Amino acid sequence: MKTKKIRMPGFFKGLKVTFMTMLKTLFPGGLKKPVPNPSAGAHTVQYPRVKELPPTRARGVIALHTENCTACMLCARECPDWCIYIEGHKELAPPRREGGKPRQVNKLDRFDIDFALCMYCGICVEVCPFDALFWSPEFEYSEPKIDDLLHDSKRLTNWMDTVPSFTEYEDGSEQKVRAVPDPVEKV
Ligand code: SF4
Ligand code: SF4
Repeated sequence: MKTKKIRMPGFFKGLKVTFMTMLKTLFPGGLKKPVPNPSAGAHTVQYPRVKELPPTRARGVIALHTENCTACMLCARECPDWCIYIEGHKELAPPRREGGKPRQVNKLDRFDIDFALCMYCGICVEVCPFDALFWSPEFEYSEPKIDDLLHDSKRLTNWMDTVPSFTEYEDGSEQKVRAVPDPVEKV
């Protein structure tokens, strides 16, 4: 006579997996030696006592190289969160060649980024035509007051000290570039 196998619903299977993982974390020595030692079994880094080094290209904070910024407003226009605030004025600069007309140049009066609104998409860094914005992997700038997450140009410029020098792209990304297929020939 055939016995009918009762199938355990997925919900209880999931609970069992969670429970077993919790036991492994709490008792890393196994149930034969049930001495609780959650910090040995956990994979969580005990921040801030232990600090992990973020990857070089981590998006921690945006740094501004003020000398390169022409106040063109491109980054502020492209920012999907409207969290870049730029103000500038025009000034006359000496002509490039002798006898030429004085040039009109933009001068930066204000450059602020509100990191309370920023979603770290990186569009501003990508679109800047003058290499004035850079990612820094620095992430320790939380504030008790949300208003203080508005970084002004001085603070953004100070972040430049934490921008790592350029490292070559990883092998995988080169392969991705090469993998772009050739256009299909039309008959
Ligand atoms: S950071 Fe770049 S894109 Fe933004 S205003 Fe300055 S030069 Fe223009
Ligand atoms: S990273 Fe994105 S959201 Fe943040 S300031 Fe740049 S464009 Fe705006």
